[in-house]
Amino acid sequence: MTDLFNSLAFVGKVKAKLHRSIEGTIKTVTVSLDPSGKYFASILTEAEGDNPVVSTDGKVIGVDLGLTHFAITSDGCKVSKYDNPKHLAKHEKNLKRKQQKLAKKQKGSNSRNQAKKTVAKVYERVTKSRQDFLHKLSRKLVNENQVVVVENLNVKGMVRNHNLAKAISDVGWGTFVNFLAYKLEKKGGKLVEIDRWFPSSKLCSNCYYQIDELPLDIREWNCPHCGTRHDRDVNAATNIRAEGIRILQTDGTAVSANGGEVRPKLGRKSVLRHSPTMLEAYTIVAST
Ligand SMILES: [Zn+2]
Repeated sequence: MTDLFNSLAFVGKVKAKLHRSIEGTIKTVTVSLDPSGKYFASILTEAEGDNPVVSTDGKVIGVDLGLTHFAITSDGCKVSKYDNPKHLAKHEKNLKRKQQKLAKKQKGSNSRNQAKKTVAKVYERVTKSRQDFLHKLSRKLVNENQVVVVENLNVKGMVRNHNLAKAISDVGWGTFVNFLAYKLEKKGGKLVEIDRWFPSSKLCSNCYYQIDELPLDIREWNCPHCGTRHDRDVNAATNIRAEGIRILQTDGTAVSANGGEVRPKLGRKSVLRHSPTMLEAYTIVAST
């Protein structure tokens, strides 16, 4: 902890609540003031010792991130569905209610400022619960698999919505992939991100026939070519996994020590995350 205090020399000693113990050398500390009036310090550390040798020898899991379920995974035999945790939905409802209250307050009034703080506090609670959920799920997937395949998240970024609850899940997806990335890196596993144009939903995972259209509200469909009945998300997770394996096989040699872009055949472009140092982000709350 002395390192942290030294880094914050310009403000002197600060009491802080640590969510996890800090390992490695502290590289940067970023202090920010939350709208609820709390100070946060984000600490980036570099772990000492050798980086593990990256190996793709082991279980491969495909992950489809969505709104109906937070994630659906396929490891080749077993499909698992992970709902958004229920307590989170409760927080989100609460948040919506508080926001509606805020919207009714007169601009510049004291009660509006108070309502703003209340909203910020709920928002903070939602974020914390989600982070906790994302840490646990990413830990589970990384412990059980050597390679995790996800879709490039820009896909989801393209889904425009102005609903805050959904915006929160957007943030959740990005954070989740980052959590997966650094946890895999720590154990010498690999995260494969497949191209945003890969038709994970529209491809039949049985015969690879591609249908032209699949509107979002259609949850199940029959392949016109082989007749297989598909659950939309399970089919997508299966395809994501297969595409990840294809990328690893086609261009495994292109994965250099400092990573980079891999351009497999068929013109698809996918990125393999692989950075030479292990960086881990911590967030702590300063208590006053
Ligand atoms: Zn088919």
